[in-house]
Amino acid sequence: MLVQLRFATRLTSVQYVTSEAWKKASLSRCPMHPKGGCGFSRHGTYKREDPHGTRIARWYCRKDHVTFSLLPDCFPSRFEATMVEMEQVVVMAEEAPGIEAAAGKVRPRVEDVRSAVRWLRPRVHGVHAALHCLVGLLPTVFAGCAPTVLAFREALGVAWVLPVLREKAEPYLSELPPPIGFGPRPMRRLPKPGAGQHYSGPDPPTRARYSCRQPGGMVRPGRRKTGESTWKTRKRN
Ligand SMILES: [Zn+2]
Repeated sequence: MLVQLRFATRLTSVQYVTSEAWKKASLSRCPMHPKGGCGFSRHGTYKREDPHGTRIARWYCRKDHVTFSLLPDCFPSRFEATMVEMEQVVVMAEEAPGIEAAAGKVRPRVEDVRSAVRWLRPRVHGVHAALHCLVGLLPTVFAGCAPTVLAFREALGVAWVLPVLREKAEPYLSELPPPIGFGPRPMRRLPKPGAGQHYSGPDPPTRARYSCRQPGGMVRPGRRKTGESTWKTRKRN
């Protein structure tokens, strides 16, 4: 089992690679056995493809056979890209009239628009699911804020908001979906057969509904309207 943890750093992806910052990443004790005695030790690195030369530091708990990795704030979880590239893609989707128009713009070399949509959709939905959760989890910061990157940028007054959200959302990262969090991907709740609902693509960000599991196991249900698709967080195995 691999568990991702946050490597708090303000380095850009290029700075991270050129400085080989994974060598400075540190995890002093096993997160599962803080008193020690589990054979916890550094376990080399693994590579990411983009940008070339990226390595991620990892550790291993021999007792529970768990590998831990420290993912810096400049990289999204579960996606090969940088956090800035991820944000650019999601903003293009927010500014486009629809998911297909956005996909054609983001992936112009892909002739099959359905293929481009399949590439784009999990990125946009993962970010928007996390933003939707954060509106409720951090009401003093995001109360009344639409769950979009553009709105969150304005609320925080920053040029690139996704790396900043790693820090703001740190207590919830294990539950938030990728690319911001380290939790499971959001799962679409399909309509029941015969319910007369039509699945024709993703909802606009402001209409998407999610359930956000809070620390302690409480679930804050998202509001639903008839005919809208809904999301929930998939239970981890
Ligand atoms: Zn351990």
